[in-house]
Order: sequence, then C-alpha cells, then structure tokens
Amino acid sequence: MSWKDRPFNSVGTDPLKNKMKGQGKESLSADSSKCPTCGSNIFYEPELSGLLCPNCGNVYSPDTMESRGSLGVTKEHDYVGDVDMSEDDKKRHEIICNSCGGTLVADEDTMSTMCPFCGSPALITRRMSREFKPDYIIPFKIDKDRAESLLNEWISSRKNTPLGFKKKCRMTHMTAIYVPAWLVDCSINSDLSGTGKNGNSMVRDFIEVYSNMKFFVKGVPFDASLKIPNKLMEAAEPFDYSEMVKFESKYLQGFYANKYDQLPTEMVDRIVGRMDRFARSTTDLLANKYDEFEDRFDKHFTWLSDISVKYCLLPVWFVTVDFKGEKHQFAVNGQTGEACGRVPVSDACTVRNKLLSLSAGPWKFVTIPVAVALIYLCCFLTAAFYSNPAGLFFVGFLYVLLFLDLIILFLSFAGNILFRKVFDFGNKEYDQNDYDKDPGLSEYYDSSRKTERTVSEKLLRHVVSITDSEGRVVETHSLEL
Ligand SMILES: [Zn+2]
Ligand SMILES: [Zn+2]
Repeated sequence: MSWKDRPFNSVGTDPLKNKMKGQGKESLSADSSKCPTCGSNIFYEPELSGLLCPNCGNVYSPDTMESRGSLGVTKEHDYVGDVDMSEDDKKRHEIICNSCGGTLVADEDTMSTMCPFCGSPALITRRMSREFKPDYIIPFKIDKDRAESLLNEWISSRKNTPLGFKKKCRMTHMTAIYVPAWLVDCSINSDLSGTGKNGNSMVRDFIEVYSNMKFFVKGVPFDASLKIPNKLMEAAEPFDYSEMVKFESKYLQGFYANKYDQLPTEMVDRIVGRMDRFARSTTDLLANKYDEFEDRFDKHFTWLSDISVKYCLLPVWFVTVDFKGEKHQFAVNGQTGEACGRVPVSDACTVRNKLLSLSAGPWKFVTIPVAVALIYLCCFLTAAFYSNPAGLFFVGFLYVLLFLDLIILFLSFAGNILFRKVFDFGNKEYDQNDYDKDPGLSEYYDSSRKTERTVSEKLLRHVVSITDSEGRVVETHSLEL
C-alpha cells in the first residue's frame, strides 16, 4: 500500500487504526479470525497496525491477511520433572535475589555472593526451572580488569561528580552478565509529509510534500531483561554482529546469564517506537530540498513488515554502585569496551545548575529596579532616622536586603559569564552526566537490501509580496492552487 491509496486528509492516515482505537481486545475477539499458522485467536494490535497472534507471534495485514513476518521466537518449555531438561541445563543453577527478584543462570561452578542488580547479599540458589536456550551469543572479549579500568577511566572523565563517588566506584567489582536480547530484522514502511517553502521575501512557494519510503533494518537489539534499564543497554550499543556465533553452553563457563522476562510480543510498543524514531530520522532527506520545511507529524505513519526475531545473548559487564543510599547502575560493553551509565552530579553542581537556570531567565531584570528602589529607600531612611537607634536597626535590615539583591544581580549577570566562560562549564551542564544516546538508524540500516522511495510534491500556494523602497510589505498576492 502506498500513500496514494490513503485519503491524505484523514487524521492519523490509517483508517483502521482510528477505528480500533480505544476498543478493548476482548471486544474484537468475538469476530476475530484465527491465525492461519497455528489456529489461535488473533487480535488487532494498534501499534503494529496489524493482527498479531500472541501464540506464535505472526503478524498479518488486517485487510488482506498477508503475512508481515513474525515476532515469534522458539518457545521455552515449562519444566516438568527432569524430562525436559537438556544435559546442559542440568549442569546449571539459578540464582535468585531475595531482595529485588533478579534471576541469573550460571554453571554449577559459578557462585555469587552479591546481587549485581541491587547489591543485596540475600541470594538463593536453586535448580533450573525453565529451559534456557538462546539462538546466538556474542562471546565476551573484555576481561574483568580491563572492564573495571575502562569504567573507572570513563567515570573519571565525567565532570562534577559528588565527592567520593569515583573512589566508591573503584572499590566496586563488576559482574559479567550475558544479557538476553531480541534482535529484530524488519522493513520499515513510512509515510511522511510536510510543507516545504522555497523562495525569498518577495516570492514564495508553499509545497505540500508526501513521501513513502520502505527500507530494511537488521539486528536492532531490544533487551529482554526487566532488571537492566533499557536506556543503559541502548547506551552500551552497538555490538559487532560479525562476531555473533551459534549458542553453545561452553561460552557460559564462568559467566552469568540473565533469563528473559519479556517476549517480543509483549514489548510491541517499544519495538515499534524505536522503528518509528528511525523512520522519522529520515525526514532530513526530505527537508534538504527546501529552504524551509515543516513536518506534519500528525500525518506520519509507520508500519513494519518482513519481521523476524533472533534470540541472542549480549556480553555486558555490569555493576550497581550504592552511593549514599542511592543505587547507580553502570555497564561496559563486553565486546567493544564502551562504558556507559548515568553519573550523579554533586550537590554543589546542582546548586550551580539552579543558579544558572535562574540566571538564564528573564526574572533577573527584576533585580535591577529592586536594587535602585532599595538604594533610594536606604539613603532616604538613613537620613530620616539618623538619630534614632531603633530606626537605624530597620535601615540595617534594608541594607542586608540590598546586599542580597546585589549578589543575585551579580550572579545572574557576571556569574553567568564566570560559570560559562571562565570555568568553561559549557552549555551542557544539565545533561552532561546523562546516558549516551542510542545509535541511530545508520548503525542498523541494511544496505544490502533495496530501499524504495517515492516523493511527490503539490504546489499549494504561490505568494508574491510587494514592498516599498524601505522594504516594508505593502501588498501581498496569494495564488491558491
Ligand atoms: Zn499463530
Ligand atoms: Zn537483587
């Protein structure tokens, strides 16, 4: 389906999406069809703009029942006695944290004394309860000493951390964890539209632009562990898939693995959300053609097809640092050595940031008339109460107010220059210690597959402005087309 088949003026552009919005899945199940692959009931999933089978993960177009691929993975089997356990599984045990519920899988020789997710020592070891079978694994390349020194190097490079934080980090040991992730391949189909403007102040053209694009992405990872923040894992990306191998239990020797908590069919919104961001990031391709470009995101529509999912374990060095009662989680990519996390800022820095944000506001101009008024008042009252000690006490109070006002005045003007220019805090002081951005589309774009793109333009308006000798617009003629 291309954009041409859609009525352009329908808000949201997907008629079915609007019709189904707000309706519960139950209300649809009465007349819902059966999955052509497995026979289970299938449901309309608004995020996918398609029908999803929760049993096998297959996705279908609602109108044609054409397959759009599958979010399904090899199903784990519930453990019943020893029968379903593979020989490898029997050699492993599960370590469960009594405090946060985090679960790790390890071989029988690997023991842990502390939960890597919350730092609690209250751990229970039990036999494997579910079969645990990833398709692929990227083996660890970075050893513990290297990971710890890379993390410390990175944390040292962060500015304005609280006193003692870096030292605390140096004392905490990292744990190697294979993080379960779903690697999603799919094609992203997107309808974008906007208004382009070309011309100058005299003659302007307003052009309505529609674009339909289909491109492929490969190996976009979504971590399936609820214990590890998604932002942390995204910041640890990218992984080099050329070193990805078929899973063999020998790789787990001496390492922990986290079991997945969520299936891809349970995180459709996250998957589609990220793909949609990829689609939106292509808007620049459109915008470049015009002097000005305005997105029409309300008419933006993304849908996925050719979906397939691989289950892979990604190598991550992980640590939770408990600092003054707050927990901070950090990771080092076990393959590339990239360190990431969200580093706290010192209290002094928080105060300074507040001052900076205050000094950036227009309120600072209030301090000028206040200072002038106080100076007048102080002079007048000092003269008036010259021989009156009680009155002078009151005047003294006004002098204190004046002093404070002048300090604020100084900080808001001179302080701004002092903080930004002299101490070189730059303009990023608010988020400099936040997570790294996840890699964008360029990292996952599949160049081996053909990208299809159609762009069409419609001239909306042709505007001619007539100006007088001083450049003032005196007449405007607009030609609607
Ligand atoms: Zn099915
Ligand atoms: Zn824990």
